[in-house]
Order: sequence, then structure tokens, then C-alpha cells
Amino acid sequence: MSSQTVSRNAWPHVTDAQWNDWQWQQQQRIRTADQLAKIITLTPEEHEGITQAGALFPMAITPYYASLMHPTDPNCPIRRQAIPTKEELNIDPNEVEDPLAEEKYMPVPGLTHRYPDRVLLYTTHNCPVYCRHCNRKRKVGDPESAAPRAQLARAVQYIRDTPAIRDVLISGGDPLTYADNPLVEMITDIRSIPHVEIVRIHTRNPVTLPQRFTPELVERLKQFHPLYLNTHFNHPAECTPEAAHALMLLANAGFVLGNHMVLLKGINDDPEVVKTLNLWLLKQRVRPYYIFQCDSAQGIAHFRTPVQSGIDIIQSLRGFTSGLAVPHYVVDLTGGGGKVPLVPEYLVEHEGKKMTFKNYAGEHYVYHEG
Ligand SMILES: *Cc1c(COP(=O)(O)O)cnc(C)c1O
Ligand code: SF4
Repeated sequence: MSSQTVSRNAWPHVTDAQWNDWQWQQQQRIRTADQLAKIITLTPEEHEGITQAGALFPMAITPYYASLMHPTDPNCPIRRQAIPTKEELNIDPNEVEDPLAEEKYMPVPGLTHRYPDRVLLYTTHNCPVYCRHCNRKRKVGDPESAAPRAQLARAVQYIRDTPAIRDVLISGGDPLTYADNPLVEMITDIRSIPHVEIVRIHTRNPVTLPQRFTPELVERLKQFHPLYLNTHFNHPAECTPEAAHALMLLANAGFVLGNHMVLLKGINDDPEVVKTLNLWLLKQRVRPYYIFQCDSAQGIAHFRTPVQSGIDIIQSLRGFTSGLAVPHYVVDLTGGGGKVPLVPEYLVEHEGKKMTFKNYAGEHYVYHEG
């Protein structure tokens, strides 16, 4: 695929100050087919998708993310992640509304407590860009379902009352859609709980709205360390100087950075694509943390790959490049079983205490266990 993009030139009258202002980017998000058609050549399928599927799970695209799109190729990885298609209307019989049974493990609304010592907190249902493959699309993008303040207060109270919780994941939607003050207030509350050892922020803003990470915000957040920030890059087309700048500010401020990639058919189910992405991430001091098998949320069957493609990707990385670039490939089990890692098989034979392994290059080695 050509690396041609529409670029900023599609917004000729916009000043640098506007373009680099995250609030301008938020306000100017592309919400309709007509707006998008001014920037790229929409195919009839995309046009129909925006009217039909966009009515169920809205379209929203920051000008920045749209500037990375290919002007004519509908297979462009940015277009496929952001523009609705009619395929989203197909519900596969194995798909469910709440694949990870998040509601079932909710002791209070807006908080999932599935593992013994950590919780996932849903703070908002807004995101700068609505990813077509989102596994929370039953909630995300629906302003009616946004967590009210009272709900958030109850969730924080639950954490305060539950000493086993030492790790809090602040998720959404995208918590960085909060303005600076409410965001800082929320983290202040969570940080004031003595048994909370670490806080992780889950945000796709480095990918879809890197302008959000102003030096002022990063400076205010760094008082809450140890803070982890996990983001969601899926393709090298998202690896821009703007994204690198945001990640640099965060890494310089002491954030521990990780990436979650979702395995998406025709977008990144290719070992070379993942390797390029992961090596770029490492240069920005971001550790590739997870590759997620696309889960069973409704209307995303067209993104789902065989599990073997994920295993093949791990096999193509391990040994061939830095171990730091090798994430965990996981299936988040439908029904709320949690994440299960899948790894290529390196043990060829196990007889008594004699184990025969295959290394990354396919050579066999014998090891005697204790
Ligand atoms: C993924 C997840 C976590 C965090 O899991 P780690 O393996 O520690 O990253 C916590 N709670 C829920 C509900 C999750 O889905
Ligand atoms: S940023 Fe995350 S929560 Fe928001 S639409 Fe994308 S995948 Fe869903």
C-alpha cells in the first residue's frame, strides 16, 4: 500500500495553533459523510455504512486522525478503523452484547472487579475517535450511558472499602476526554486511597488525539506516580511525529508506557506490520504489552482473525527481534473468564526428565529437568 495520506493540506485555512489545540480537534471532529467526503473520496459502501451502521454506533474522527487517511484506498488501516461499514450490521450467532461479562462482575455500576487485586473503572463513554472494532460499543459513544458523577463516587468508595485492590485501571471510553481539572480531581481521589499502589490510565489519545498531552497536563499528572499509561496503537500508519512527541512528554515525565494492540483482519494480522509497529513503539519507550484476539462483541466479525494468526505473529517475533518487542497474545474469554495467553509450542517432546525443545530457528535441543 502507498503511504500517501490526505495530510493537513485538507484543512488549508486552519492555523498551527488551532491544529495543535486538542479542544479545536475535539470540536472539529468529523461526524457525517458530507464532512468526510470533503477530505477523502468515499466509496459507496463507506457512504452507506456511515448512514446505516453509524446510526447504531456513531462515527467521530478527529481532523488529526483523518489526516492520516489514504485519500482513495478504502483498505487504508486508518479508514478501516474509523469509518463505519455495513458489515457492522451483521451479527454473528456467536457474538454477544457484553462478551467479557463486564456487567456480571460489577459490584457497583461502572466498575469491574474480575481479578483478586485489581479493578477496571469506566469513567466515560466518550472517545475522540470511535474505533469500529471497539468491544465496548454497546456503551461507548452513547451519551445516555455516560457515567454520572455519583456513580463514579460510588465506584471510588468501593475501592476505598476493598483493601485487596492495589491496582486501578482507569478506562472508558477514554478518560482523557475529561478536561484537566476533573481528570486531576478523579485521580487525586483514587490516589488518596492508601492501599492503591499503582494506577493505570487506558487511553487511545496518543493515537487519535496526541495534542491532548500538553506539557501542563503531563506536569500535573506526574504528581500521581507510579502511573502507568496503556495506549492502543494498531498500525505503523499511526506512528507519526505528533504521536512520538506525546509519548516523549509522557516518558520524560516518568510514566511507564505500554501498548495494547487488537489483532484486526486485513489491518495488522501480518508479522511484518506488527514488528514495524513494535520496534517503533520501543523507540518511543513504549513496551508492547498485549495483543488481543478480537473478542466476540457484536458486529465486528469482519475484523476477527483465526487465533493461529496471533500465535504466528508471536512466533515470528520471539528470537528474531528484541524480547522487549514481544507482547503477550491473549484471548479475553467470552463470558468473563479473563485473559488467557497463547504461545507457540516450543516443547517438542517430554519423556521422564528429558525435554526436547525447538528454538526460534527450528533447531532441536535437549534439556534434563531436575
Ligand atoms: C485486563 C483486565 C485487567 C488487568 O489485567 P492485567 O493482566 O493485570 O493487565 C483487570 N480487570 C479487568 C476486568 C480486565 O479486563
Ligand atoms: S478508544 Fe477504546 S473505548 Fe474508545 S472507541 Fe476506541 S476501542 Fe472503544
